[in-house]
Amino acid sequence: MPTVAEEAPRLDRFSLPDAAGHFGGYGGVFVPETLMTALQELAAAYEVARKDPVFLAELRHHLKEFAGRPTPLYFAERLTQHCGGAKIYLKREDLLHTGAHKINNALAQALLAKRMGKKRIIAETGAGQHGVATAAACAKFGLECVVYMGAHDMERQALNVFRMRLMGAEVRGVEAGQKTLKEAINEAMRDWVTNVRSTHYILGTAYGSHPYPMMVRDFHRVIGQEAKEQILACEGRLPDELIACVGGGSNAIGLFFEFLEDAGVKMTGVEAGGHGIKRGEHAARFAGGRLGVLQGCKTFLLQDAEGQIELTHSVSAGLDYAAVGPEHAFYRDRGRIDFAYATDDEVLETFQLCSRLEGIIPALESTHALVHAIKRAKVLSKDKVIIVNLSGRGDKDVQQVAALLGSAK
Ligand SMILES: *Cc1c(COP(=O)(O)O)cnc(C)c1O
Repeated sequence: MPTVAEEAPRLDRFSLPDAAGHFGGYGGVFVPETLMTALQELAAAYEVARKDPVFLAELRHHLKEFAGRPTPLYFAERLTQHCGGAKIYLKREDLLHTGAHKINNALAQALLAKRMGKKRIIAETGAGQHGVATAAACAKFGLECVVYMGAHDMERQALNVFRMRLMGAEVRGVEAGQKTLKEAINEAMRDWVTNVRSTHYILGTAYGSHPYPMMVRDFHRVIGQEAKEQILACEGRLPDELIACVGGGSNAIGLFFEFLEDAGVKMTGVEAGGHGIKRGEHAARFAGGRLGVLQGCKTFLLQDAEGQIELTHSVSAGLDYAAVGPEHAFYRDRGRIDFAYATDDEVLETFQLCSRLEGIIPALESTHALVHAIKRAKVLSKDKVIIVNLSGRGDKDVQQVAALLGSAK
């Protein structure tokens, strides 16, 4: 067998995906015929927009004025002291308008939809963060907005449901199956098939059929671009490690992409370990999954012997999904991105630790990255530097955590 080095003398992050959306053996387009035209139309429109200085300038303007970019790269001094090793920096995506990195992509896709003459937007949401970001972008641009959300997630994230409705979005609860993100995506796809002429589907993560994984990645690249500039300014060198949580993979690839060719920078994606790696108890696709196709994309996913999608569990709704973005699967094979997982218990402990030490309440999703960062900081020497993507704020999670901690006592 050829070694990775022989196969790929140089890793060119810009050569991916190919024109059909493949990241090596992952990605692609797996949709009913009725959606092919819509995806092709979208890919063509995006191909023009991504090179159009007018579109890019307008997007930059909205990211600054509406979303609040650039976000700080914050030295977590007390968390660093607590660990006694490597310096921990937090990329503060939690400070963005609507509370998470999701607004980068939602704003950009809404702008693209406007350009394409689409007046109606649909979206799926898990934790509700993508729904809230999409509702905000639609309100801003005067677009009609329908958000599909699993009924179980609507309970877990009732506050976000209210926020979406306040901003004028219609939230449609989905009662099928496990009543979480996967079912919400099914409903959104069904809607899109029916209303494809008037409607753009703002998918919320670096997942699905081409061009979504590429497009959503591109819209989050700003995270890594800023972080690189910021760490060079304050440390005078590149970081040793980057750590980000991975649901579909958008905040992680957003941070990582700019560093992929910097061989000295180690990158780790952290998945949801839930109650541990047992069937139906977690969402760590790389720990318990294998190759398959789900919702338009070929990638690593959690499935049984017959290929049926397994149940997933995580304390964080935003990481609770059976499949992972294709670009992550590709770079994992190459040994360029490593993967770890954090369990619910570890996350609940670190959620409190970060709040107490830093005065920053992290989203439960982002806390997965923090759990791993703390483990790494403890074993690395003090001259090492870690950047953690703090993908969102935890205000949406406090009620749930209060209930969990209450019942543990
Ligand atoms: C949605 C969400 C995630 C997970 O999605 P990715 O596409 O993997 O980034 C992580 N953190 C927060 C705060 C989220 O809202």
